[in-house]
Amino acid sequence: KLILAIESSCDETSVAVVKNGNEILSNFIATQIDSHQRFGGVVPEVASRHHIEQITLGIDQALKKAAVEPDDLDAVAVTYGPGLVGALLVGVSAAKSFAYAHNLPLIPVNHMAGHIYAARFVKPIVFPSLALLVSGGHTELVYMPAENVFKIIGETRDDAAGEAYDKIGRVLGMKYPAGKNIDELAHQGHDTFNFPRAMEHDDNFDFSFSGLKSAFINTVHHADQIGEELDRKDLAASFQQSVVDVIVSKTKRACEQLDIKQLILAGGVAANQGLRETLDSMIKKDLPELDFVKAPLKLCGDNGAMIGAAGYVAMQHGESADLTLNADPSLEFDWEPDAVR
Ligand code: ATP
Ligand code: MG
Ligand code: FE
Repeated sequence: KLILAIESSCDETSVAVVKNGNEILSNFIATQIDSHQRFGGVVPEVASRHHIEQITLGIDQALKKAAVEPDDLDAVAVTYGPGLVGALLVGVSAAKSFAYAHNLPLIPVNHMAGHIYAARFVKPIVFPSLALLVSGGHTELVYMPAENVFKIIGETRDDAAGEAYDKIGRVLGMKYPAGKNIDELAHQGHDTFNFPRAMEHDDNFDFSFSGLKSAFINTVHHADQIGEELDRKDLAASFQQSVVDVIVSKTKRACEQLDIKQLILAGGVAANQGLRETLDSMIKKDLPELDFVKAPLKLCGDNGAMIGAAGYVAMQHGESADLTLNADPSLEFDWEPDAVR
C-alpha cells in the first residue's frame, strides 16, 4: 500500500510517500526554524503562512522523489491534531483537496501516534509495548497493549521535556530550539549542580520539569547578580542528568510493572544522546529481555514519513475520514486511566 502523508502541526511542513507503513520512498521536510528564531519560539501566524507557501511544493516534490503518480496511491494520511490550529488546517485542507481530486481515502492521524510509529521504520512493533514519548509539547508514557491502542499511563504535570530544554537554552542565550545544543554541551561537562529530580520516587508515572527549570534559572540569575561565572558545560550536564535520571527511572519501573515486551523511544527529544545512551545501558543491565527500539535520529523531529507509518496502521484498522475532517488542536489519545493505573 502506498500512502501520501502530510504533516503541518507545528513548524515543519512535511510530505512523504510511504510504502506499507515501513518503507520511506520520499520525505520532503521544509523547516521554518530560521523564521521563528528571532522570536525565540514558534509564532503561530508565521507558521501557517509558511505552511501555505510550502505545502503544494512539498506534495509535488514528495511524489516526484518517490517516482509515484497520484493514481498509484492507496490513501492520503494527514495529521489533524494536536498542534497549532492554523498550521494543522493547512495540511488538513491540502489532504482533503488531494484526496477529493484523486478519489483516495483520507486517513486522519494523531501526531503523537505518528511520533510513536516512526519506530516501524526500524523494526516491527511488539506488544505489549511502551512508548516513551518525549517532544516539544509532550512528555508521556504510552502503554500499547495491542496495535492502534494507546493508553497514557503517565505524563508531565507542567512543562514538556523539550519545552524545558528550550526555556533554559534561552537563559543561556542559545537560539531556539536549544535541545540539541544543550545535549552537545552536556557531553563536555559534569553534573556538579545536582538539580532536583522531581517525582523520581513517587508511586506514579507522571513527570514534572518546571521545578528543575526554575532551579536552573535561579542558579544562573543568582550567579549573574553576584558576578560569578558559571561553567556552561557543567550547567548543561547537570540539567540533562536530572532530566534523564527521572525519565529513565520512571520508564524502567513502568516496563517492570506492566511486563512490557518492547520499549519505543520517540519524539523530538528522543534525539537526545544522553537519553539514548542511558536507556541503552539501563536496559542492558536491568531489563536484558526488553526489546528497545529508538526512532531513527532523522525521524525524531516532525516529519511526514512517521505520519505515513501511523496512517498505514490506522488504515488497516478501518479508520478513515470524510471531507468534513477538521483540525483538532488539542486532540488526545483515547485512554482509560483505570485500566492500567
Ligand atoms: P509535539 O510533538 O509535542 O507536538 P513538537 O512537534 O514541537 O511538539 P518535536 O518536533 O517532536 O516537538 O520536538 C522538538 C523538540 O525537541 C524541541 O523542544 C527541541 O529542543 C527538542 N530536541 C531536539 N533535539 C534534542 C536533543 N538532542 N536533546 C534534547 N532535546 C532535543
Ligand atoms: Mg518542530
Ligand atoms: Fe512533534
